[in-house]
Amino acid sequence: MADSSTTALSALDGRMFIDGQRTGSRSGATFEAVDPATGRVFAQVALGDKSDVDAAVAAARKAVEQGWAGLPPVRRVRLLNRLAGLLRERTRELAELESLDVGKPLRQAEDDVAAAAGYFEYFAGVADKVFGSSIPLGQGFVDFTLREPLGISAQIVPWNYPLRLASRGIAPALAAGNAVVAKPAAEAGLSIVRLAELAVEAGLPAGVFNVVTGGRETGAALASHPGINHITFTGSVPTGVAIMKAAADNVVPVTLELGGKSPNVVFGDADLERAAASSASTLMQNAAQTCTAPTRLLLERPAHDRFVDLLAKRIRAIRLGRGLDNPDMGPVVSERQMHRVLGYITAGSRDGATAVTGGARAQDGELAAGYFIEPTLLDRVERGSVLEQEEIFGPVLTVTTFESLDEAIAIANGTPYGLVTGVWTKDLSKAMTVASAVKSGQVRVNGYSVEGSIGLPFGGYRRSGFGREQGVEALASYTQIKNIMINFGSG
Ligand code: NAD
Repeated sequence: MADSSTTALSALDGRMFIDGQRTGSRSGATFEAVDPATGRVFAQVALGDKSDVDAAVAAARKAVEQGWAGLPPVRRVRLLNRLAGLLRERTRELAELESLDVGKPLRQAEDDVAAAAGYFEYFAGVADKVFGSSIPLGQGFVDFTLREPLGISAQIVPWNYPLRLASRGIAPALAAGNAVVAKPAAEAGLSIVRLAELAVEAGLPAGVFNVVTGGRETGAALASHPGINHITFTGSVPTGVAIMKAAADNVVPVTLELGGKSPNVVFGDADLERAAASSASTLMQNAAQTCTAPTRLLLERPAHDRFVDLLAKRIRAIRLGRGLDNPDMGPVVSERQMHRVLGYITAGSRDGATAVTGGARAQDGELAAGYFIEPTLLDRVERGSVLEQEEIFGPVLTVTTFESLDEAIAIANGTPYGLVTGVWTKDLSKAMTVASAVKSGQVRVNGYSVEGSIGLPFGGYRRSGFGREQGVEALASYTQIKNIMINFGSG
């Protein structure tokens, strides 16, 4: 690691960030941060409890009352742009921290820092454009709406893209004039503490952005805190349900960004080379621990053999290694996650799936110490089987074949999730038929990633959640509407 990241790491050791300061937990308790590539402990993390959450919420409340919410929006524009600039300047440091913590290749961690900066730039651009509307009531009246901040937004973040996903929610929350208390995942989230520290360096007032580190109980203490006004939760469905129940007790709105089991529908007329390259990169990208990962391949029967061949060749060329060494693919985040994913592969083989390539823990040489899984392609996956239905969240692609457009749509819609659908075809009519029939928040045709995706509203249908992040639509989650009616006539 470079000197800057080593220094950042030692400064973060055992610290969270409350009221503009690094601070240990009030109880003094800590837990271990483990490098998933080696299984070694590399830092201690403060274990926050209810008293730390109380302190963070109090600091956020003070910041709101001392004027953050009422600041001329153009000042928030400058502050958020400055924060984005600091993120870009510190790319290497932050990416090394993220790579060490999550295990992802350094290049991908750098992309995450760029995306985080992109969120702050995008919402800096929006901060002074939080428009209301005017509603005609006739002579003698004026009626208009204001979009006001909610107050304190609690942001509960998963481990797979700590910096990127925290920024996705925190940037619009701050842009709209809310204060934030964030709770990263226990498995990985040190970069979020560093982000809060950089926010203060950028000039954000103390207390506007606080971070309480810890696990499930810390998250539960934040979600049920009577002082918060909103929750953005990104994570698994069961936790999302628990959070919604906690929010109900305090009657606060929630934005739920939950899991996915995204189908990738490949028709016989598609550019199979491009589709196969995209599928291989799905595996490499954060070892497919990505909510949007199109891990459920639906192949039109005539394209099956050629596509599987093309993809298997690419998968066999994937180089595994420690994230900091910039391999094609890193380990999964934890020992627990590794066993969970391997368990799915075993269950799949019992149900008749066959491994075209991969299918086991990767244990060559130095890999044996870490939590590496061979990039895996499983063919002949039965419709309705566990493998086809449940989110695996690891480097495993499953293949199911279809014979007709209707069957493809039925399989695509055949899980409780609805985050993203991928479609590959040269036939626009087929693409649009699938796009309009699938129950998912996004559809991506002939390409899964695109520059500028921050501007595209993102969120789930069905059990993948509700509310939208990204794009100007995200502001709806972070503001409430006040209607003001004025009777200035004599009647
Ligand atoms: P998780 O649900 O286990 O945990 C997410 C966060 O919630 C963590 O910070 C955790 O400490 C906290 N938490 C756990 N129990 C809690 C409780 N009872 N109350 C409050 N907080 C609690 O999820 P994970 O394993 O960290 O992340 C993986 C999941 O996240 C996958 O399902 C993935 O699809 C989903 N995800 C969704 C998106 C999206 O945008 N839709 C993005 C990334 C990940």
